[in-house]
Amino acid sequence: MASIQLKQITKTFDKHDVIKDLNLDIEDGKFTVLVGPSGCGKTTLLRMIAGLEVQTSGQIYVGGKDVSKVAPGQRGIAMVFQNYAIYPTMSVRENIEFGLKNNKVPKAERTELVEGIAETVGLSDYLDRKPSTLSGGQRQRVALARAMVKKPAVFLMDEPLSNLDAKLRVQMRIELIELHKKLGTTFVYVTHDQVEAMSMADKIVLMNKGEIQQEAPPEVMYHTPSNAFTAQFIGVPPMNISAMSDGFSFGFRPESASLSKEKLLGAFAAHGRIVTREMLGSETIYQLKTEHGSFMIKSIDDSFRVDDEVHIAVKQDKLHFFDAR
Ligand code: ADP
Ligand code: MG
Repeated sequence: MASIQLKQITKTFDKHDVIKDLNLDIEDGKFTVLVGPSGCGKTTLLRMIAGLEVQTSGQIYVGGKDVSKVAPGQRGIAMVFQNYAIYPTMSVRENIEFGLKNNKVPKAERTELVEGIAETVGLSDYLDRKPSTLSGGQRQRVALARAMVKKPAVFLMDEPLSNLDAKLRVQMRIELIELHKKLGTTFVYVTHDQVEAMSMADKIVLMNKGEIQQEAPPEVMYHTPSNAFTAQFIGVPPMNISAMSDGFSFGFRPESASLSKEKLLGAFAAHGRIVTREMLGSETIYQLKTEHGSFMIKSIDDSFRVDDEVHIAVKQDKLHFFDAR
């Protein structure tokens, strides 16, 4: 187990600062998720922690030790990629064992380790199979097991579920949360998907353009976004944001507005027409055109229809105010 500290990390590619003077404390044993739009620098940051990329300036500490000049293999870190590297010609057992053989671990010890890990990730019955006979989720578990066998102090994962279909992705999320609990190891998980971040993280670190926008547990990020970028990145549909004349803007979550055919009172109120309706089962999402702009409203009431004239109102404590910059 180990904490990670990034101190004043800058990374420049072709004179372009991809990571800008970034400071971050990653807590020991926690599940930290780095999330942000494509190209914001998540992979670059993760690769620097792993030692696969060298920072232009700044220091990286793992377990309190400056590893800025330590080789990747010596950092006590394992990395699982999106395109997981497993050897197709080797059995599951041989794949998991591979790193141990290289380290000259005796046979009996190897077998015990491999079988223990196979059990942890639910592969006990598949040890003699070839990867080609496994499902996508099982192959992903082989990749995890291969990383686990070296007992790293830190796991880095770069969009490890993005090649899986939607259903399997949801199942693997739960498995990863359980795996993290079992191992108690520091997990740093990269994704562009805010739903993944919200559902898995102890702490979310939201990045944009090489800078951290906010770091907080999911609930805090959702209920008290510190700026308009965070407010719109976290949550589906995103927060409604409307500009005010003084350079500030205000926003409210789609589920924070009440919706009615009767006139409503609130700190913010508007009147308009439903232009789209998307029934999702327990909730319905309506898009409204009003005199104050276009808003998305999420409601448990599915009785409204396109072209209905409706009123919305938002209470004071559900309004968020942002500096427009
Ligand atoms: P993310 O993982 O958040 O999608 P990346 O870390 O892959 O983002 O990339 C961040 C930025 O750095 C992008 O603009 C990308 O084009 C650039 N970049 C990444 N790797 C290199 C490289 N080896 N050479 C030049 N530019 C790079
Ligand atoms: Mg990436």
